[in-house]
Amino acid sequence: MKELEERIKKDGRVLGKDVLKVDSFLNHQIDPMLMEKMGEEFYEHFKDAGINKILTVESSGIAPAVMTGLKFQVPVVFARKHKSVTLSDDLYSSEVYSFTKKTSNHISIAKKYLSSDDKVLIIDDFLANGQAVNGLNTIIEAAGADLAGIGIVIEKSFQKGRQMIDKSGIPIYSLARITAFENGQVVFGEEDD
Ligand code: 5GP
Repeated sequence: MKELEERIKKDGRVLGKDVLKVDSFLNHQIDPMLMEKMGEEFYEHFKDAGINKILTVESSGIAPAVMTGLKFQVPVVFARKHKSVTLSDDLYSSEVYSFTKKTSNHISIAKKYLSSDDKVLIIDDFLANGQAVNGLNTIIEAAGADLAGIGIVIEKSFQKGRQMIDKSGIPIYSLARITAFENGQVVFGEEDD
């Protein structure tokens, strides 16, 4: 998505060797007009996949997920993060190691919001090592739901997540694909078709 790549070039900041900060339009301040266009892109790509639910993780996945849900006209469910959790029979849960925070989070979704009738599209802001996607997939499997696809706003293709998902055969569509950070500059790879 050209407009997103331009925005990353203009406003993104590379931190260290593998983190991109995009606080001015995605992770803190949110640009709703850009989010809406992202929702349209995900919709165009996955519209024939029979999706009836969007799943994401709080908090940065929520904005693009809601815009995507709006285009599909389907509900959006976000997994909640807890540091520790009292076990509950009403929740599907899994463990996610946070790439940016370097801690493990327990994520959970209420059972009443996910079932074997659901055909799910996962939306997230970043793909790094694929931990968040894996955690959501564990929950989807526990619910007996079907994972139809994964939509990512910013993929860092040089980390492990993309390869892992490609191996699994689950359809993935990333709006911007970063192949490297070179001298603090972002290098983009080929767009997904
Ligand atoms: P993964 O689970 O794929 O290893 O990492 C994805 C999650 O970590 C995303 O949900 C996102 O919140 C966070 N993340 C990973 N890499 C970055 C990054 O470069 N910048 C920001 N802002 N968040 C990231």
